[in-house]
Amino acid sequence: MQLETKAIHIGRRVDPSTGAVSIPLHTSTTFERGADGSFPSGLAYTRDANPTRNAFETAMAALEGGHTAIAFSSGMAAITALFEWHPEKGRIVAPDDMYFGIRSLIEETDIGRRFEFVPVDMRNLDALRAAVTAAPTGLVWIETPSNPLIRVVDVRAACQIAREAGALAVVDNTWATPVLQRPLELGADAVMHSATKYIGGHSDLMAGVVIVPEASPLERPLRMIQHHKGSVAAPFDCWLALRGLQTLPLRMRAHCAGAQKVAEALVAHPRVENVLFPGLPDDPGHALAGQQMAGYGAMLSFIVHGGADAAMAVAAQLKLVTRATSLGGTHSLIEHRASVEGPGSMAPAGLLRLSVGLEHPEDIISDLKNALSVLR
Ligand SMILES: *Cc1c(COP(=O)(O)O)cnc(C)c1O
Repeated sequence: MQLETKAIHIGRRVDPSTGAVSIPLHTSTTFERGADGSFPSGLAYTRDANPTRNAFETAMAALEGGHTAIAFSSGMAAITALFEWHPEKGRIVAPDDMYFGIRSLIEETDIGRRFEFVPVDMRNLDALRAAVTAAPTGLVWIETPSNPLIRVVDVRAACQIAREAGALAVVDNTWATPVLQRPLELGADAVMHSATKYIGGHSDLMAGVVIVPEASPLERPLRMIQHHKGSVAAPFDCWLALRGLQTLPLRMRAHCAGAQKVAEALVAHPRVENVLFPGLPDDPGHALAGQQMAGYGAMLSFIVHGGADAAMAVAAQLKLVTRATSLGGTHSLIEHRASVEGPGSMAPAGLLRLSVGLEHPEDIISDLKNALSVLR
C-alpha cells in the first residue's frame, strides 16, 4: 500500500456494528468485563487502551514504517517520556537550536537535573562524534529541519554516530512528517511527533506520539510511562488526528509547493536580508534535504533588514498571515522567535518564522510584500 492509502485506511475499517465508514469516536473510559472475569473486548480502562487511540497509534506506526506507536497528550509529554526513560548513561546530546520547549523543559523542570544535556550544532558531524564519545551517552536527539534556523541534519550519519557510541538516536520528525522523511529507514531508534502540527493539520488538537521499530528497548518503558504516568492522548484528539492523517500526504504537497513560491518571492525582495529554506538552491541544507527528504517542507525563516523593530513592524502589517505561535495548520502563521524565546534564543533579532499554510501562495506573497513595504 502506498502512503496516501495507508493514511486513510490503516487502523480503521467500516464499523461492523453500524456500517459507519468514518471511525467512531469512543469516549468511554471503561469497558465491560465478562461474567467469568475475562475482558472480551481486550479493553478495560481508557488510560491503558482506547479504541480510537489504538487506531491512531496503528496508523502512525504504519506511516513511519515502525512496529508500534505510543500516543501522549502533547508533543512535550512524548518528549518527557523519552527523556524520563533513559539508560544508565547520563548524557543527552541535542541540537543547539533544539525546539525551544525542550530548552524550557531542561531549564525549568527536574528533567534538566537528571541528565547532562550537551547542545551541539549537529550539521558538524565531528562535533557530534566528539560530544557522544567524551562521556557515556544514552540518547542523541535529532531535529531536522530545525527550529527556527531551518538547519538540515544528516539523519543517517547522526544515527550511525549514535549507534557506534552505544546511544539511541531519536528523531523529532514533526516538521517533516512521514510524508517527507522517514527516520526509521535512515537508522533512527525512535521517531517522535508533535501531532499538534501537520498531523492534526488544522490547529485544533494537541497530541504527541513516539514510533518505535520491532524489538525496541524503548517500547515497553514508554508504554509503561504512558499507562502509569498517565499523560495519554485524549480520544477526541486522536479522532481529529486520524481525520487529519487522511489528507496529510495531499496537504504536505500543497504546503511544500506554497512554501517554495513564498521563499522565492522573499529572496527576491530588497528588504529581506536572508531566507532560510532548504528548497532554495544555495541554502546550505539544499543538497542534503534533497537526499533524505521527499520535499523541502513548508517552514521557513526570513531575516529583514533593520533588526527586531523592523521585523515587528512587518509582522504588525500583515492582514492574512496570522501572528501566532505553532505551525503546520491550514492558516499561515508568523512569529518573531527572538522575542518569544527571550535570552538564550539563537534566532537573529530580525528573524520572522513563517509556517506557510494552505491559502493560495499568491495571496500569502502579496500580504508579505505589502507588509514589507513599511520598511521603505
Ligand atoms: C510543537 C513542537 C513540539 C512540542 O509539541 P507540543 O504538541 O506543543 O507539546 C516539539 N517539537 C517540535 C519540532 C515542535 O514543533
